Amino acid sequence: MSESLRAAAARAQQKLEAEWRQNAIRDDGWFDATVPCGAGTPPWPGDTPFSCGWTLRIVTGGSVNLSSITMSPHVGTHADAPLHVKDGARDSDAIPVQPFNGLVHIVDVRDLSGAISRAQLAERLAVVEPVRLFLRTGHSVAEGRFPFSWPWLDAEVATDLARRGLTLLGTDAPSVDHKESKTLDTHHALFNHGANVLENLDLRDVTPGAYELRALPMRLQGADAAPVRALLRMIRAD
Ligand SMILES: [Zn+2]
Repeated sequence: MSESLRAAAARAQQKLEAEWRQNAIRDDGWFDATVPCGAGTPPWPGDTPFSCGWTLRIVTGGSVNLSSITMSPHVGTHADAPLHVKDGARDSDAIPVQPFNGLVHIVDVRDLSGAISRAQLAERLAVVEPVRLFLRTGHSVAEGRFPFSWPWLDAEVATDLARRGLTLLGTDAPSVDHKESKTLDTHHALFNHGANVLENLDLRDVTPGAYELRALPMRLQGADAAPVRALLRMIRAD
Protein backbone atom coordinates (compact mmCIF):
# COMPACT_ATOMS: atom_id res chain seq x y z
CA MET A 1 0.00 0.00 0.00
CA SER A 2 1.30 3.48 -0.89
CA GLU A 3 2.14 6.01 1.82
CA SER A 4 -0.68 8.39 0.78
CA LEU A 5 -3.28 5.58 0.91
CA ARG A 6 -2.03 4.53 4.32
CA ALA A 7 -2.25 8.14 5.56
CA ALA A 8 -5.80 8.47 4.19
CA ALA A 9 -6.83 5.22 5.89
CA ALA A 10 -5.29 6.40 9.17
CA ARG A 11 -7.22 9.72 8.91
CA ALA A 12 -10.47 7.85 8.20
CA GLN A 13 -9.88 5.64 11.22
CA GLN A 14 -9.16 8.68 13.46
CA LYS A 15 -12.37 10.40 12.28
CA LEU A 16 -14.37 7.25 13.00
CA GLU A 17 -12.84 6.94 16.48
CA ALA A 18 -13.88 10.57 17.18
CA GLU A 19 -17.45 9.85 15.97
CA TRP A 20 -17.52 6.77 18.13
CA ARG A 21 -16.42 8.68 21.25
CA GLN A 22 -19.10 11.30 20.61
CA ASN A 23 -21.78 8.62 20.22
CA ALA A 24 -20.60 6.73 23.29
CA ILE A 25 -21.94 9.56 25.45
CA ARG A 26 -25.50 8.72 24.40
CA ASP A 27 -27.08 5.55 25.67
CA ASP A 28 -29.71 4.64 23.07
CA GLY A 29 -29.82 2.41 20.03
CA TRP A 30 -28.41 -0.72 21.65
CA PHE A 31 -29.63 -4.10 20.49
CA ASP A 32 -28.94 -7.60 21.65
CA ALA A 33 -26.75 -9.82 19.45
CA THR A 34 -26.85 -12.73 21.90
CA VAL A 35 -28.14 -16.22 21.13
CA PRO A 36 -29.89 -17.29 24.34
CA CYS A 37 -28.96 -20.52 26.12
CA GLY A 38 -32.07 -22.68 26.12
CA ALA A 39 -33.32 -26.22 25.66
CA GLY A 40 -33.92 -25.37 22.00
CA THR A 41 -30.47 -23.88 21.33
CA PRO A 42 -28.61 -26.31 19.05
CA PRO A 43 -25.27 -27.34 20.59
CA TRP A 44 -22.29 -28.49 18.51
CA PRO A 45 -23.17 -32.08 17.49
CA GLY A 46 -22.21 -34.33 20.42
CA ASP A 47 -21.68 -31.45 22.87
CA THR A 48 -23.69 -31.07 26.11
CA PRO A 49 -26.96 -29.16 25.45
CA PHE A 50 -28.53 -26.67 27.86
CA SER A 51 -30.92 -28.20 30.40
CA CYS A 52 -32.59 -26.70 33.42
CA GLY A 53 -33.63 -28.77 36.44
CA TRP A 54 -35.05 -27.77 39.81
CA THR A 55 -33.47 -28.12 43.25
CA LEU A 56 -36.47 -26.46 44.93
CA ARG A 57 -39.98 -25.61 43.72
CA ILE A 58 -42.46 -23.28 45.45
CA VAL A 59 -45.29 -25.46 44.14
CA THR A 60 -43.91 -28.42 46.14
CA GLY A 61 -43.33 -26.46 49.36
CA GLY A 62 -39.98 -24.76 48.72
CA SER A 63 -39.48 -21.19 49.95
CA VAL A 64 -38.09 -20.29 46.51
CA ASN A 65 -37.77 -21.68 43.00
CA LEU A 66 -34.14 -22.77 42.63
CA SER A 67 -32.92 -23.93 39.25
CA SER A 68 -29.86 -25.94 38.36
CA ILE A 69 -28.41 -25.75 34.87
CA THR A 70 -26.23 -28.08 32.84
CA MET A 71 -24.61 -26.99 29.58
CA SER A 72 -21.42 -26.81 27.59
CA PRO A 73 -20.08 -23.23 27.76
CA HIS A 74 -20.11 -23.34 23.94
CA VAL A 75 -23.94 -23.31 23.83
CA GLY A 76 -25.28 -19.91 22.74
CA THR A 77 -23.07 -16.83 22.32
CA HIS A 78 -19.69 -17.45 23.93
CA ALA A 79 -15.98 -16.61 24.01
CA ASP A 80 -13.51 -19.44 23.57
CA ALA A 81 -10.56 -19.48 25.96
CA PRO A 82 -7.11 -20.53 24.67
CA LEU A 83 -7.54 -23.65 26.84
CA HIS A 84 -10.14 -24.82 24.31
CA VAL A 85 -7.43 -25.64 21.77
CA LYS A 86 -4.26 -26.02 23.91
CA ASP A 87 -3.50 -27.90 27.11
CA GLY A 88 -2.13 -25.64 29.83
CA ALA A 89 -3.34 -22.44 28.13
CA ARG A 90 -5.48 -19.75 29.84
CA ASP A 91 -8.99 -20.69 30.97
CA SER A 92 -12.13 -18.59 30.59
CA ASP A 93 -11.54 -16.84 33.92
CA ALA A 94 -8.51 -15.17 32.32
CA ILE A 95 -10.27 -13.88 29.17
CA PRO A 96 -9.60 -10.12 29.07
CA VAL A 97 -12.55 -7.73 28.98
CA GLN A 98 -11.14 -4.89 26.88
CA PRO A 99 -11.11 -6.75 23.54
CA PHE A 100 -14.86 -7.34 23.97
CA ASN A 101 -15.70 -3.66 24.43
CA GLY A 102 -15.21 -0.96 21.82
CA LEU A 103 -15.35 -0.27 18.12
CA VAL A 104 -16.14 -3.30 15.94
CA HIS A 105 -16.39 -3.60 12.16
CA ILE A 106 -19.05 -5.97 10.85
CA VAL A 107 -18.76 -7.41 7.35
CA ASP A 108 -21.34 -9.39 5.41
CA VAL A 109 -19.87 -12.62 3.99
CA ARG A 110 -23.14 -14.40 3.31
CA ASP A 111 -22.27 -14.64 -0.39
CA LEU A 112 -19.03 -16.52 0.34
CA SER A 113 -18.16 -20.12 1.13
CA GLY A 114 -14.90 -21.72 2.23
CA ALA A 115 -11.88 -19.86 3.57
CA ILE A 116 -12.22 -16.08 3.29
CA SER A 117 -9.18 -14.63 1.54
CA ARG A 118 -7.40 -11.34 2.14
CA ALA A 119 -8.88 -9.90 -1.08
CA GLN A 120 -12.42 -11.00 -0.24
CA LEU A 121 -12.13 -9.39 3.18
CA ALA A 122 -10.58 -6.18 1.79
CA GLU A 123 -13.55 -5.78 -0.61
CA ARG A 124 -15.90 -5.69 2.38
CA LEU A 125 -13.90 -3.87 5.03
CA ALA A 126 -13.77 -0.07 5.25
CA VAL A 127 -10.58 0.00 7.35
CA VAL A 128 -7.23 -1.75 6.90
CA GLU A 129 -6.41 -2.54 10.51
CA PRO A 130 -9.59 -3.41 12.45
CA VAL A 131 -9.17 -3.86 16.18
CA ARG A 132 -12.36 -5.92 16.30
CA LEU A 133 -14.01 -7.73 13.39
CA PHE A 134 -17.30 -9.65 13.10
CA LEU A 135 -18.29 -11.88 10.21
CA ARG A 136 -21.96 -12.21 9.33
CA THR A 137 -21.97 -15.60 7.62
CA GLY A 138 -25.73 -16.20 7.73
CA HIS A 139 -25.06 -19.75 8.98
CA SER A 140 -25.97 -19.50 12.65
CA VAL A 141 -27.63 -21.47 15.45
CA ALA A 142 -29.68 -18.25 15.86
CA GLU A 143 -31.80 -19.74 13.05
CA GLY A 144 -32.73 -22.64 15.36
CA ARG A 145 -30.70 -25.32 13.52
CA PHE A 146 -27.04 -26.29 13.63
CA PRO A 147 -25.69 -25.09 10.25
CA PHE A 148 -24.31 -27.49 7.67
CA SER A 149 -21.30 -25.30 6.82
CA TRP A 150 -20.14 -21.69 6.93
CA PRO A 151 -17.39 -19.44 5.57
CA TRP A 152 -14.44 -18.78 7.89
CA LEU A 153 -11.46 -16.44 7.95
CA ASP A 154 -8.35 -18.03 6.46
CA ALA A 155 -5.75 -18.68 9.21
CA GLU A 156 -3.04 -16.68 7.40
CA VAL A 157 -5.36 -13.69 7.11
CA ALA A 158 -6.22 -14.06 10.81
CA THR A 159 -2.50 -14.13 11.67
CA ASP A 160 -1.85 -11.05 9.58
CA LEU A 161 -4.74 -9.11 11.16
CA ALA A 162 -3.77 -10.16 14.70
CA ARG A 163 -0.16 -9.06 14.06
CA ARG A 164 -1.53 -5.67 12.99
CA GLY A 165 -3.69 -5.18 16.07
CA LEU A 166 -6.83 -7.30 15.80
CA THR A 167 -7.91 -8.22 19.34
CA LEU A 168 -11.25 -9.92 18.63
CA LEU A 169 -12.72 -12.01 15.82
CA GLY A 170 -16.43 -12.68 16.12
CA THR A 171 -18.76 -14.76 13.97
CA ASP A 172 -22.41 -15.69 13.91
CA ALA A 173 -21.29 -19.23 12.97
CA PRO A 174 -20.55 -21.88 15.62
CA SER A 175 -16.78 -21.65 15.05
CA VAL A 176 -14.10 -19.31 13.65
CA ASP A 177 -12.75 -22.44 11.93
CA HIS A 178 -14.60 -24.64 9.49
CA LYS A 179 -16.93 -27.34 10.70
CA GLU A 180 -14.72 -30.35 9.90
CA SER A 181 -11.44 -28.78 11.06
CA LYS A 182 -9.42 -30.92 13.47
CA THR A 183 -6.39 -28.59 13.54
CA LEU A 184 -8.37 -25.42 14.35
CA ASP A 185 -5.84 -23.26 12.52
CA THR A 186 -7.75 -19.98 12.78
CA HIS A 187 -8.29 -20.45 16.55
CA HIS A 188 -4.54 -21.08 16.97
CA ALA A 189 -3.60 -18.16 14.71
CA LEU A 190 -5.70 -15.79 16.82
CA PHE A 191 -4.73 -17.12 20.26
CA ASN A 192 -1.02 -17.34 19.34
CA HIS A 193 -1.08 -13.62 18.59
CA GLY A 194 -3.08 -12.55 21.63
CA ALA A 195 -6.45 -12.12 19.87
CA ASN A 196 -9.78 -13.44 21.19
CA VAL A 197 -12.68 -15.45 19.79
CA LEU A 198 -16.44 -14.79 20.00
CA GLU A 199 -18.81 -17.35 18.44
CA ASN A 200 -22.54 -17.97 17.89
CA LEU A 201 -23.49 -14.30 17.64
CA ASP A 202 -26.95 -13.36 16.40
CA LEU A 203 -26.24 -10.96 13.51
CA ARG A 204 -29.47 -11.58 11.58
CA ASP A 205 -30.56 -7.93 11.77
CA VAL A 206 -27.09 -6.42 11.41
CA THR A 207 -26.04 -4.51 8.29
CA PRO A 208 -22.36 -4.01 7.48
CA GLY A 209 -20.72 -1.08 9.21
CA ALA A 210 -18.99 0.22 12.31
CA TYR A 211 -20.60 -0.57 15.65
CA GLU A 212 -19.90 -0.15 19.32
CA LEU A 213 -19.69 -3.50 21.09
CA ARG A 214 -20.34 -4.15 24.74
CA ALA A 215 -19.80 -7.79 25.66
CA LEU A 216 -18.70 -9.47 28.85
CA PRO A 217 -17.43 -13.06 29.11
CA MET A 218 -18.38 -14.77 32.39
CA ARG A 219 -15.50 -15.66 34.70
CA LEU A 220 -15.79 -19.45 34.76
CA GLN A 221 -12.72 -20.84 36.49
CA GLY A 222 -11.17 -23.86 34.81
CA ALA A 223 -13.57 -23.81 31.83
CA ASP A 224 -12.52 -23.66 28.17
CA ALA A 225 -15.17 -21.10 27.15
CA ALA A 226 -17.49 -18.52 28.70
CA PRO A 227 -21.08 -17.46 27.94
CA VAL A 228 -21.23 -13.85 26.73
CA ARG A 229 -23.97 -11.22 26.55
CA ALA A 230 -23.21 -9.16 23.45
CA LEU A 231 -24.78 -5.76 22.74
CA LEU A 232 -24.26 -3.69 19.60
CA ARG A 233 -25.03 -0.13 18.59
CA MET A 234 -24.50 1.20 15.09
CA ILE A 235 -22.07 4.07 14.63
CA ARG A 236 -21.91 4.17 10.85
CA ALA A 237 -23.14 2.03 7.95
CA ASP A 238 -20.60 0.98 5.29
ZN1 LIG B 1 -16.53 -22.29 20.93
